[in-house]
Formats: sequence, C-alpha cells, structure tokens
Amino acid sequence: MNTLRNIFFDLCAIPVYLIILWTCCARKLTRGRINRAFLLITLLSLACTVLDIAMEYTVNPLPLSRAAVAGGMVISSLYLVLRHGTLLTYFIWLFHMTRTEYRIRPLFCRVLIVLPYAVSILLLAQNLFTMNVFSVSAADGYRRERLMTVLYVNAALYGVAGLACCVSCRRFLSFHKWFSVISVYLLTFLAVTVQLVFPHLLVEMFSTSVALLMILLHVMRPEERMDPTLGVRSWKAYQEDLANLLRIRQPVQILAGQLVNADELRGYLGDERYDALVLRGMESFRSQVSRRPGTRMDIYFERPGNVYFILENEGPADSLQSEMEKAVRKSNGFSPREGIRTMLKMCLIRVPEDLKDLKEILGLGHRFPLLGRQEQQLFLARDLVGGQDYRILSHIDEILERAIHGDSLEIHYQPIRDLKENRFRSAEALARLRDPEYGLIPPVFFIPAAEKSGLIIALGEKILEAVFRFIHEHDLKALGLEYIDINLSVAQCLDSHFPGTVRRLQQQYQVDPSQVCFEITETTFDHITAAAHERLRALRILGYTFALDDYGVGYSNIQRLSRIHFRLIKIDKSMVDELSTESGRLILRNTIHMMHDLQKQVVAEGVETEEALRALADMSADLIQGFRFSKPLPEAQFLSLLRRP
Ligand code: C2E
Ligand code: MG
Ligand code: MG
Repeated sequence: MNTLRNIFFDLCAIPVYLIILWTCCARKLTRGRINRAFLLITLLSLACTVLDIAMEYTVNPLPLSRAAVAGGMVISSLYLVLRHGTLLTYFIWLFHMTRTEYRIRPLFCRVLIVLPYAVSILLLAQNLFTMNVFSVSAADGYRRERLMTVLYVNAALYGVAGLACCVSCRRFLSFHKWFSVISVYLLTFLAVTVQLVFPHLLVEMFSTSVALLMILLHVMRPEERMDPTLGVRSWKAYQEDLANLLRIRQPVQILAGQLVNADELRGYLGDERYDALVLRGMESFRSQVSRRPGTRMDIYFERPGNVYFILENEGPADSLQSEMEKAVRKSNGFSPREGIRTMLKMCLIRVPEDLKDLKEILGLGHRFPLLGRQEQQLFLARDLVGGQDYRILSHIDEILERAIHGDSLEIHYQPIRDLKENRFRSAEALARLRDPEYGLIPPVFFIPAAEKSGLIIALGEKILEAVFRFIHEHDLKALGLEYIDINLSVAQCLDSHFPGTVRRLQQQYQVDPSQVCFEITETTFDHITAAAHERLRALRILGYTFALDDYGVGYSNIQRLSRIHFRLIKIDKSMVDELSTESGRLILRNTIHMMHDLQKQVVAEGVETEEALRALADMSADLIQGFRFSKPLPEAQFLSLLRRP
C-alpha cells in the first residue's frame, strides 16, 4: 500500500508522456533535429518513470532477496544513466531550439558538454563493483553512498548551464515560450527539493512531464512558422531566424529567389499545381546544394513566389555562385509539360560582408530584381549594395514622404500617335520624382513601394491633381489632343474615397471627364472586388473612359474584357518586341483582329523602330506609343513638341 502511495505521481506521469508522444506523432513532429531531440527527451523520461516504479517494487519490502538486490542495482544504475541522458539531451535541444547551436559546434565545447555525463557513466559502471555511489543490500535496501554527490554535482552542472543558456536566449523567444523552456529546470529543482524533504514523494518525473507538456503546447508549434500548404518554413520564420542569426553574429549566406511571374503562374496553374511546382523547384535546389560537404541549409517560402535559403558553414561564395547559376538556368524557361514559362531570379547575400542589417537584408530580398537589367537572372548583393539605385530603394519611403509633402512630383507626358490621321491624338501621363537628394526617380522604383506602404493613395491623388491642373491650364483641343491617359493602381481602385476625389478635382479644375482615360493593368483584376467594380462603373457614368494597360503580360483572360467597358486595349511592349518572330507576328495580328471584332481600339506600347511601326500599321493597329515618336517628356518640352508645326 505504501509503495503504491510512493509511485502515485509516477503513475500519473505515464499517461502525460504517452499523450505527448502520441501528439508528436499525430502532428508529425518527428522530423528535424528539434523534434527528434524532443521525442528522445520524452522517451527517456518515460523510461525513467517506468524504472522509478520498478525500483519501488524491487527494493520493497525489506529484507530483500538476492534477485531483488541484483535487480535493484541494475534498475537504479539504468535509471541514473537515462536521467542524466535526459538532462544532456535537453541541454542540447535548447541550443537547437534557439538556433544557437553554433555555440556548441567547436570540438572543445562538445567535449565539455559530454564530459559530466561521461564521468557519471564511469562512476555508475565502477559502482557495480565498489558500491561507492549507491548500494542495494538485503538488510538496508537502497542507500546513497559517498560518491552520489558527484552525480548530483554533474546533474546540477547541466541545470546551471541550461538555466544560463535560457537566460542568455531570453530575447530570442516570446515570454510564454521562454517560460515553458525554463520551467523544466524550475520544476525539476522544486521536485528534487520536495523529494529531499519527503523522500517518499516521487514527484520528479511527474514535474518533468508537466514541463514537457508545456513545451509541447507553447513551443512545439510548427504551424506558427510553417507555410500551411507547402510544409516549409514561412516568411515569419525567415524573419525570426535571420534576426537571431544577426544577433549572435553568425556569418551566413542567403540565397534569395524570386519567381517574378508568380502571380501569373498561380492564376494559370491554380493553387495546387503552383504549389507542386514551387516544391519541386525547392527540392531540386536543396538536393543540388546539400551535396556539398558541411553545408547546413534552411529553406523558407514567402507567398506568392519568394524563396530564401540560409546557408551556414558555407565554403567559398564563388563555388556557390556557379551552383546558383546552374539552378537558375534549370528553373527558368519554358516547360512544355505544363505549358508555362517560369521567371526565377536569384540574389546571393553574404552576411555580414554585404549587409548586416535585418531590414536591409529583408528589403533586398524583395527588391533586387529592380536593381538589374530586365534579362538578368543572377544578382550578387556585393555588386548592388552601395549603388545609386540601391540607395534610392533603401530610402524609398522617405523619398515618397518628401514627394507627398513637398513638390518633387513631376508628370511627364508621352504622346500617342493616331496612325490613320497621322497626328498625336492623346498622351499618357507618367509620374517621376525629382528628389532633392537622389535626383530623378523612375516609377518602377516608387510605384510598387508606394503600393506596399499605402502611400499610393496620397501620391495617386497628387498625380491626379497635377494632370487635372494640366488639362485645366491648357486647351487640349488646341494642342490637337482628345484626352490624357492616367495610370491607376489597384489600391486606388479599391479606395472607397476615389470616385469622390475624382469628382472634387473635376469640379475644382473644371475638367471634362471625356478628356481623361484611366489605365488599369490586367493584374488589377485579380484583386478587384465587386464594390471596386461599382466604383469604376460610377466613374464611367460620369463620363470617364478606361483603357486596359499592359495587355499580353503573363496570362490574359478575354472574359475580363467584358467586365469593364474599355475604350482602348494597350498591347504591352513585351508583345510588340515579339514582332521579330514569326509566331509573335501571328499572335499580334490575331490579337488586333480580335480586339477590333470586340469594338476596341488598339494601342501598341513600346514601339521603338520603323520596322515595328510599319508592321503594326500593316496589322491596322489604331494608335502607337513609343520612343519611335517620343519619349515621355517634361511638360514644357511636351507642349513645344505638340506646338511644333
Ligand atoms: P505603363 O503604364 O505601361 O507605361 C508605359 C511605360 O513604357 C513607361 O515607362 C514608358 O516610358 C515606357 N515606354 C514607352 N514607350 C517605350 C519604348 O518605346 N521603349 C521603352 N523601352 N519603353 C517605353 P515608365 O514611365 O517608366 O513607367 C513604368 C510604369 O510605371 C508604367 O507602365 C505604369 O505602370 C507605372 N506608372 C507610371 N506612372 C504612373 C502613375 O502615375 N500612377 C501609377 N499608378 N502607375 C504609374
Ligand atoms: Mg500605362
Ligand atoms: Mg503599359
């Protein structure tokens, strides 16, 4: 009866350990260093609990039989070996969990960590003959002996070192995670104290089970750091891990990949096939790079199409570069099986040589494709950082603030030629920033940044006002123009105040709505809601017209054409550039034909050469915009071009 009372807590601990193990398996927390170490700790603790119970039955009641003495020796030795093993494994798990394992990587550290455990094992081995650590005898049962103190000291060493590790890693973890991690030590310390005062209350293994349960609930939560469908680490995990690596000054190399046409691919393939494509790509790259000896690589994914590889312990950057080149070449291009063209760009960032600031590294991962030539696939941060474009992009928010509150916004106008009437019929208003510090900044730099930060609403209003003022100040008819094209961003279309703003400016500058044509890009449709649709329709009722911009970029859906009444379809430069190929010409001819059948006028954008112009005239394109006639010009030059006889 007494024995049963002693093992009461141990009996309660067993179902807790079993629940932890079952949950780990059910939630697939079985792969990876952190999960495996946690499983091992739980298994060792469960074994210790079972041995604890077995020991109580073996050494009670007194006097003991010879078999009970031998059994007691074996069980107790095994218990101590496994219990110390738990402490060692937990200590190592702490480093993996906080991503500070680099601290224990040197051989010297590894030896130091294993040393107390090795001493304990040796002591226990010799104890089988000397009984100087503990003894089991027929008359006295189990007794601690002189050298047991060494075992306690060894265990305490792991406890103290573990506590110190927890304290030093405090800033890497949220409070509830940190508290769960440290509770293993706090509860064990409490339990050992209780057992010293009340030797028959075997609460140690129960307290450990409670602490492990807390860790399972608060710390082992992969869903917080995983992309739910792909099962790889998420953008949030990338930010956290990178922040930790920077804090501990661990040198790493980051490969940031960007699937430039991710949105189009997803639209075309659908979510499931797109995810499979991304996974295949990541796996093929992983298998290529992880063949390198000593490479440790973590992969992260950010939707829609950014992937990050963090490589530690990496060799020379040059060999990595050649592997990246191979990977990019393999991933890019046309895949006949799926009928798609993937456009992957990659950037190699060495930390800390190239960059050492978290915000800058994260920012470069997003912006690097803007810093190169259009066809460039491989980027090296060392070539980008410090350049003028890089400086602009890293200060873009501040530049945008200056544009909104100051007068650095400029509108350039690019005339659009009517081929039949052989005159300029309209012009597109294109925004530029003339920043006092960074000079003239093109829209590819500031429009996406303004869209991301939400400043596009304020900036868009400023652009609108500048163009409306231009229309008010100049008689378009006298200039030979019918209307001005103004580009709209998705955010503006979604903004419920937008129609009100347009109406207010229209009244203020007495603009006739037929003098304005709003350009909306194809991809805008992916984001437009029914309410936004209504707003655009309201503007149409007021008399504004619309043009579909960048037609032919990525994946075009003819159905979209009927959703808003478009006056014009603007064929993107990329399609015009294909005029040099037989199939390009065929596609363009048929597209123009189809648009005419749908009663739409066609504008060809990016026309640079006489040949392209002639080919388009031959295909009956209605309007031409491009450097062949004029680049976008500042207001004064634009006016003098139009006034030229
Ligand atoms: P977009 O609306 O498709 O404008 C046409 C772009 O093609 C302009 O670039 C123009 O300079 C360029 N372009 C025209 N003809 C040629 C040519 O013959 N050869 C070449 N290589 N390029 C040509 P830009 O001004 O750099 O504008 C880029 C994009 O930025 C625009 O593309 C538009 O999407 C956006 N954007 C420009 N201004 C605004 C604005 O005020 N608001 C919004 N939301 N977006 C704007
Ligand atoms: Mg446009
Ligand atoms: Mg365009």
